[in-house]
Amino acid sequence: MNPRRIRPLNEAPERPGPVVYWMSRDQRAEDNHAALHARALARVRKAPLVVLFVLADEFLGADDRHFAFMIEGLRETAADFRERGIPFHLRRAGKGASVADVVVEALGDLGAGALVADFDPLRVKREWKRRVLDRIDVPAFETDARNVAPAWTTSDKQEYAARTIRPKIHALLPEFLADYPPLAKQSYPTALDGGEIDWAALMPDADIGALDVAPGASEARNALDRFIDEKLDRYADKRNDPNADAQSRLSAYLHFGQLSAQRAAWEVRARKPDSPGAAAFLEELIVRRELADNYALHNPNYDTLEGAPEWARKTLEEASRDEREYLYDYDQFHAAATHDEIWNATQNHARATGWAPGYLRMYWAKKIVEWTPDPATAFEIAVRLNDALFLDGRDANGYANVAWAIGGAHDRPWQKRPVFGKIRYMNANGCRRKFDVEAYLERWAPKR
Ligand SMILES: Cc1cc2nc3c(=O)[nH]c(=O)nc-3n(C[C@H](O)[C@H](O)[C@H](O)COP(=O)(O)OP(=O)(O)OC[C@H]3O[C@@H](n4cnc5c(N)ncnc54)[C@H](O)[C@@H]3O)c2cc1C
Repeated sequence: MNPRRIRPLNEAPERPGPVVYWMSRDQRAEDNHAALHARALARVRKAPLVVLFVLADEFLGADDRHFAFMIEGLRETAADFRERGIPFHLRRAGKGASVADVVVEALGDLGAGALVADFDPLRVKREWKRRVLDRIDVPAFETDARNVAPAWTTSDKQEYAARTIRPKIHALLPEFLADYPPLAKQSYPTALDGGEIDWAALMPDADIGALDVAPGASEARNALDRFIDEKLDRYADKRNDPNADAQSRLSAYLHFGQLSAQRAAWEVRARKPDSPGAAAFLEELIVRRELADNYALHNPNYDTLEGAPEWARKTLEEASRDEREYLYDYDQFHAAATHDEIWNATQNHARATGWAPGYLRMYWAKKIVEWTPDPATAFEIAVRLNDALFLDGRDANGYANVAWAIGGAHDRPWQKRPVFGKIRYMNANGCRRKFDVEAYLERWAPKR
């Protein structure tokens, strides 16, 4: 394990006892640097490794569909750890209970001697971690299992744009973009066994409808294989055509950590390095995705307009006085009840499946600026819809992309126009030039 992927979170003295991997963002057994680090630490300390997952009842507006996807995935991940002799403990932080309290209690019950956590720049996760660290006295570490180049090695500040972070990431890929070793089996004292988990009882009762993808680490690997075999070659040319089905549909797996981006990148490089789609795909999967983590890590206002660059806030402020032809509230947006059929179809697509094509997500977010009284409200509604609808929502990618679409983050000023000021603009004619809008509407326009 490259030590630069790990950072100590405290200076607590060595203590005997099991190493606990508090798994949160990276919900998989294999291809997981945090699990590998915890396993290696356990070996050195001649102590067992135990995995702990604490299920929050509420998370950034996640609905039953998101919980169902996550719980199904966790069921497979728990079995994967247990197959390797690694106990898996799942505890619930019920209504009103704090995840941090439950983690601290579990560490006490397990007699933990060290803690390994996966890295997550989102505020709520940092707050959980901070509250745990305040109350424990065992050595604790954080391991970046999400990014190919660990976020803290790439940059120590908020990057301006893809063009500024790209060379930094590319310089680190020879060091970090490698294959993973398997997670070695262990034998452990049965007293640490996590016990039976009643997965059915954890599943939401509501009908969760037709999800875009089936959950779990093995489904994620299948989806990756299918993408490389069937779509990668078309990715560069066709990914912006919402009818072409050329995107990977890996985002939900990546979001819940059921798939490692490094695994996806490694397989693309190993199996189809000369595919015309390889470079474009790796740009999105590594550069754009790691730019989003950089934004959330270094910008305390990553999920509001306040985090937007100064030029953008100024121009939007000026344009706030411009007249809006249509105004909608959250419920009207949510119901896909605007006057714009492309917007409604995208919203309907997301509502039905939990996913929407990347090109249309841009249009979808930008139009909200046009139909809300001010850009701060537009930002707030876009984040709320994004988190509620998309399986991959509640993610640094979502916040950074809303900040790009509405707040000009990682972008530059464009020609000034009403309502948008100098923020890059998109319109329906642009969509019509890019793809067969009628075919998309035929499939996804709400049937009223
Ligand atoms: C307004 C808006 C909101 C978005 N919200 C989210 C979100 O909540 N969660 C999310 O994961 N992505 C979000 N994206 C980024 C992107 O649209 C989706 O990641 C992508 O469409 C998901 O489909 P895919 O996995 O088939 O992507 P592919 O095109 O196959 O790309 C592969 C992977 O690369 C990464 N990626 C692709 N595009 C971007 C991008 N622009 N920025 C960062 N990473 C990228 C994703 O992890 C994606 O899964 C948003 C984009 C916009 C414009």
